[in-house]
Amino acid sequence: MVTAYSELLEKRFGGQLGSVGDEYIRHTVRGALRMDRLLRDLRTYMQVTTAERGATEEVDAGAVLDKALANLEAAINESGASIRRTALPRVFIHEFELAQVFQNLIGNAIRYRGDAQPEIAVSARRQGEEWLFSVSDNGIGIEPQFQELIFGMFKRLHNSAENTGTGMGLAICRRIIERGGGRIWVESEPGKGSTFYFTIPAL
Ligand code: ADP
Repeated sequence: MVTAYSELLEKRFGGQLGSVGDEYIRHTVRGALRMDRLLRDLRTYMQVTTAERGATEEVDAGAVLDKALANLEAAINESGASIRRTALPRVFIHEFELAQVFQNLIGNAIRYRGDAQPEIAVSARRQGEEWLFSVSDNGIGIEPQFQELIFGMFKRLHNSAENTGTGMGLAICRRIIERGGGRIWVESEPGKGSTFYFTIPAL
């Protein structure tokens, strides 16, 4: 409600309240959107941390990726991101959770882009008893000393106005993947890009 009405206020009365008034509305809209994201992420984190998960199901990771990409459609179009992908396997995991992982990793690949248009690749290959997934980008990259830290709650490196994340995305991913018996980590070269890897035990 706060988000919706402050956005309406901006749309209907923007320009009529003087520049200071416009600025207050802008802050209100931004704050409300941020609160909305924060609550949504907190709820997801609680869900993947404490909720009874029930039995995992066999899901087609390719179909889950399709859903995640559909949810990211606006960001993909706006940034002109290109997404390459290999065939993905069927895995045992909750569909909602795998979608969260893809969405957070690909969303970040777009959000933390460099000057070039984002080029993102999603792939999976079998390694012994597990599937190794990767999501790579050509974005700003992450300094080696922060490559572990970023998986912590509320840990953010890039705090500019456009990068209005909550610092919970990767903590959610780690929680989901480790609960499923896998690992998640990043390899990155600052200025060149990052590749996030995660594993899921094979069927
Ligand atoms: P958020 O994106 O909401 O800040 P995350 O937990 O998803 O939170 O990410 C934590 C931090 O890790 C981000 O603030 C950013 O600094 C860094 N990061 C995550 N993904 C990438 C990426 N693909 N490229 C560069 N930096 C990244």
